[in-house]
Amino acid sequence: MQVFLEVIVDLSHTEVDKIFEYSCSDNECIEGCRVLVPFGKYEIEGFVLKVKTTSEYSPEKIKPIIRVIDRIPSLTSETLALAKFVKERYHVTYAQALRLFLPAEMRKGRVKEKTAKFVKIIENNSELINRCTKKQLIAYEYLLANGEISLKELTEQFGASAVNGLKNKGLVSVYDKEILRSPYSVVNGEKAIITLTDNQNNAVLSVEKTDKVISLIYGVTGSGKTEIYLKLIEKVINEGRTAIMLVPEISLTPQMLKKLRGRFGSIAAILHSGLSSGERYDEWMRLRNGEAKIAIGARSAIFAPLTSVGLIVIDEEHDGSYESESVPRYSTIEVAKERAEISNAKIVLGSATPKIESFLKAQKGEYNLVTLKERINKRALPNIEVVDMKREIKRGNNTPFSSPLKSEIEICLNNGNQAIIFLNQRGFSRSVICAECGHVQKCNSCDVSLTYHREDDSLLCHYCGAKYKMIEACTECGSTYLRYGGFGTEKVVLELQKLFPKAKILRMDRDSTQNKEGHFKILKEFADKKADILVGTQMIAKGHDFPSVTLVGILDADMSLHFSDYRSSERTFELITQVAGRSGRAEEIGKVVLQTYSPEHPVLGRAIRYDYEGYYNHEISIRKATGFPPFTDIIRILVSSSNDDNALEVIKQLYEEFSVYHKQNLEKFKFLGCMKAPLKKLQDKFRYQVLMRVDAGDEQTRKEVFRLTDKYNSKSVSVYAEINPNNLS
Ligand code: ADP
Ligand code: ZN
Ligand code: ZN
Repeated sequence: MQVFLEVIVDLSHTEVDKIFEYSCSDNECIEGCRVLVPFGKYEIEGFVLKVKTTSEYSPEKIKPIIRVIDRIPSLTSETLALAKFVKERYHVTYAQALRLFLPAEMRKGRVKEKTAKFVKIIENNSELINRCTKKQLIAYEYLLANGEISLKELTEQFGASAVNGLKNKGLVSVYDKEILRSPYSVVNGEKAIITLTDNQNNAVLSVEKTDKVISLIYGVTGSGKTEIYLKLIEKVINEGRTAIMLVPEISLTPQMLKKLRGRFGSIAAILHSGLSSGERYDEWMRLRNGEAKIAIGARSAIFAPLTSVGLIVIDEEHDGSYESESVPRYSTIEVAKERAEISNAKIVLGSATPKIESFLKAQKGEYNLVTLKERINKRALPNIEVVDMKREIKRGNNTPFSSPLKSEIEICLNNGNQAIIFLNQRGFSRSVICAECGHVQKCNSCDVSLTYHREDDSLLCHYCGAKYKMIEACTECGSTYLRYGGFGTEKVVLELQKLFPKAKILRMDRDSTQNKEGHFKILKEFADKKADILVGTQMIAKGHDFPSVTLVGILDADMSLHFSDYRSSERTFELITQVAGRSGRAEEIGKVVLQTYSPEHPVLGRAIRYDYEGYYNHEISIRKATGFPPFTDIIRILVSSSNDDNALEVIKQLYEEFSVYHKQNLEKFKFLGCMKAPLKKLQDKFRYQVLMRVDAGDEQTRKEVFRLTDKYNSKSVSVYAEINPNNLS
């Protein structure tokens, strides 16, 4: 029977962002399938939104599809509905929204199924068997006992000549077999038998009983939140439903996978960008075909191809990584809410330092609040010692390590324990400065200073990724007297190694984790106690559970305090609590040394006392008084172009036009301004912005903003809007 299909073609241009109709006589074509369609001169992939029996167009205008691509539809009614939400909410094209739901390599048929050579017995002719050598016989019997064996394994065990001998006699055949790649196959499930504490049980009950969709588990670090998630997941799985478990960092997925595999075996699948394309496809497929029922991953796992989702867990919900900074600029919690609504699921947010916005919602009763005040077994939170670095410098200490930190590291190592040293700067030095003329080396394409990376003796732009040869002399005055400004992880490792020559030190940052499973290898080495000190950036701050770590050193606690962002104090509080939380998680009491140039800062005072609520009360009153989120939305319209004049012209016109709307809606606005972006030039593009603070959740303003961005966006001048972005540079 002939049917008509409503198809979205897989092109992201706004001009083709509409439904095209095709016909199809293939009754395998159902909603959510990908199809190959003729499109102008081309053949293009498309997504079937709807299958119907009639069409408003006259039949001769409707072209038939070329073929159906999917054996099972890539999208389900649940994910199709979610894609529609993403499209509308974040003002992107349908194709851009739909692409979120499939691994990139599936599009354009780029994924290859992986095969390996296998061997099996095809003949049991006794005459042939009698002619076998001894080695061949043993191999033959081994095959008889074990069925098909990979050629690799058989050759390793019995040698190539034995296997070839069997093959030449016609007793066995060697053939290709499709295998599913399993990422982190070395991660074995950890079978811990844990009885939940009363607090944990109460938390589980509270989440189950509440009629609120979202529960916020506000629990100090080490209070056993993970076990609560696992119990809740177990319950939804037992009901025949599925679950999504989100963690903020790719590096945390193996740790979570270990726990989930231990509890649930192979029904846990991992989805993230760090996998090889084949692995990602296979894991995606296992989720799609129902073999796997739990998706673990960073934010994009919210788009997992699961049906009948019963629970969505967002661990460390305060984390900035849950906001996407590239198109589509979505907020994971917003998408999760929609997904929960579509499939009638519950959401659990967990954090020791909830977002100000989330805690406000919990206080107002919008979220179900579950509080865990104690660590498991009433273990003490580590004591945080504040060291004034100004005083250290006065004393003539110019190394990254204060004397208290040095002696604590020594004690820690002598006791056979492990230490974590945190600083949020990769590379060797933050900048290279001419000591004669003061010139700072900058990127040619961006208005930012370059970071020196000693490992490959180069200068890197951390914004655009450009790599320059390290200079020998100042590019301004020719002086060879160059100074390093600030220090990064590379330098810290070097200095530490000088101080503790016997210690084995690992470094974890974006540079040291480039390779596939790079995070995993470093973390595993550290967890297996093959190293004494782990130096790292953000990546090591979150969620990790290393029982032997008894010392954490925070080298530059106030770095984030001086960002000109209304959330800088929130970030600092978070970071200190998170990093400190890595210490003393098992029997021994932990210790934290926090180095700072502003020891008197009130945020630090509250952070070292673990006084989140005190901090929250203070912060929320400031936000309210000054009209910042969550009481308003910050919207930024960013205009950028490689031609400075064009960018300027567009921002002027846009601002002028927006001012009309502003005048008519003055009561909505707390602030409106038009200016250069703080980062004036990025990747050879000049940047200007319209910045505003308006009533939170105001749809009308969003619409006007999107209307204007659409109107002024062009090939030569890019215009886009961000709502409450993480990063306002
Ligand atoms: P959080 O996520 O709140 O920081 P975790 O879930 O990582 O805390 O738990 C901290 C530590 O306590 C982990 O090593 C975990 O295995 C252990 N733990 C959690 N719950 C229990 C329990 N009920 N009994 C014993 N140990 C537990
Ligand atoms: Zn100079
Ligand atoms: Zn650059």
